[in-house]
Amino acid sequence: MKRVSVLGATGSIGQNTLDLIRRDRDAYQVVALTAGQNIEQLVRDAREFHAELAVTADETQLETLRDALADTGVEVAAGEQAIIESGARPADWVMSAIVGFAGLAPGLAALEQGATLALANKESLVAAGALLLDTAQQHNAKVLPVDSEHSAIFQALIGEDPKAVSRVIITASGGAFRDWPIEKLTTATAAEAATHPNWDMGQRITIDSASMFNKALEMIEAREFFNFTPDQIEVLVHPQSLVHALVGFCDGGLMAHVGPHDMRHAIGFALNWPERRPLPVDMLDLAKAGTLDFETPDLDRFPPLRLARHVMEKRGHSGAVFNGAKERALDHFIAGRIGFLQMSEVVEEVLTRILHQCGLNDDVITLDTARKADHLARDGADAVVQELIG
Ligand code: NDP
Ligand code: MG
Repeated sequence: MKRVSVLGATGSIGQNTLDLIRRDRDAYQVVALTAGQNIEQLVRDAREFHAELAVTADETQLETLRDALADTGVEVAAGEQAIIESGARPADWVMSAIVGFAGLAPGLAALEQGATLALANKESLVAAGALLLDTAQQHNAKVLPVDSEHSAIFQALIGEDPKAVSRVIITASGGAFRDWPIEKLTTATAAEAATHPNWDMGQRITIDSASMFNKALEMIEAREFFNFTPDQIEVLVHPQSLVHALVGFCDGGLMAHVGPHDMRHAIGFALNWPERRPLPVDMLDLAKAGTLDFETPDLDRFPPLRLARHVMEKRGHSGAVFNGAKERALDHFIAGRIGFLQMSEVVEEVLTRILHQCGLNDDVITLDTARKADHLARDGADAVVQELIG
């Protein structure tokens, strides 16, 4: 039996992962399940899957969790450190699906114990790509991409000589505001941004899709994970979200990964890797899908794509600063304190201010330096927001 843990089990990726595990119940022993606030879901899943350990990030919920699982043999724990320790529990395969920078430390803990890390948490790669991949190498552990575009690239590269790759094209649906004029974007609300035309995802990544911060993170993620140079990484808007990414080779050939927009494909690919097994996703009917459109993204309406180029060039701690500032700018947007386009202004300003501070230009990233960059970026974003709103 494969021993599996799901970090961020109560979220969109976590629930899709458990859906796949449920369908082949006898093949898996569930080790750790973790949650943030959604204790009810955590309790339901811990019971159903007979998890060894159930953890909430919220220490104030420990008693509630303990009471709810008192008649089971499930061990319970709470707090940030307990989440990290859940990643360290021996397992063969660990899904990293906590949202945000909080996913980095438990992901590292999973790699340190040699587990295969299925990485949905793109923020880990953006904030500390070199640290994550070096840790995997040191412990003979594997990182498998779960972000659909990166899973697509990974699949298109199988059997290919990396030296023959000339470019990679990541597609973007364009999110909720694909066709909105820039004037309208200035007044866009969080509720409007939180509806996605194609994918069903958590609130934060859905808003990041509307702003293209998600695509910006994915450009950096591709740079870090596959070691492409920044000028090899292109983005095209593809409203149908059926082609997830394309890899271009020196002979002009383009290998496209095409499939329905269902995250269970990328999750299932990582769960079954290195084998391929049947998955409960629709078989794509291309005749029914009809047309596939592609267009160049508008950098004036979606400035995060421009900022991502800067981060990809600079590397070092700029990814952690970019991500930390983005997470705070998003908090402020959701709280209604800043406008939709101001999120990019905040992040750009923080990048300019923070990167000159405190040795963040050093190349070596440790968990401590990544945390420091993240904190500075969040504080920097708060300061810029304060100046903007007066
Ligand atoms: P959700 O918001 O749906 O779920 C996030 C999960 O993280 C929940 O289990 C949540 O707990 C938990 N969580 C939140 N904050 C913390 C914290 N501080 N410490 C520990 N756990 C926490 O997000 P998604 O599932 O959409 O996304 C998860 C990750 O996968 C993100 O990094 C995202 O970018 C990436 N991703 C998602 C895709 C998707 O289709 N959804 C596609 C590609 C990548 P609770 O709900 O209990 O509070
Ligand atoms: Mg993606």
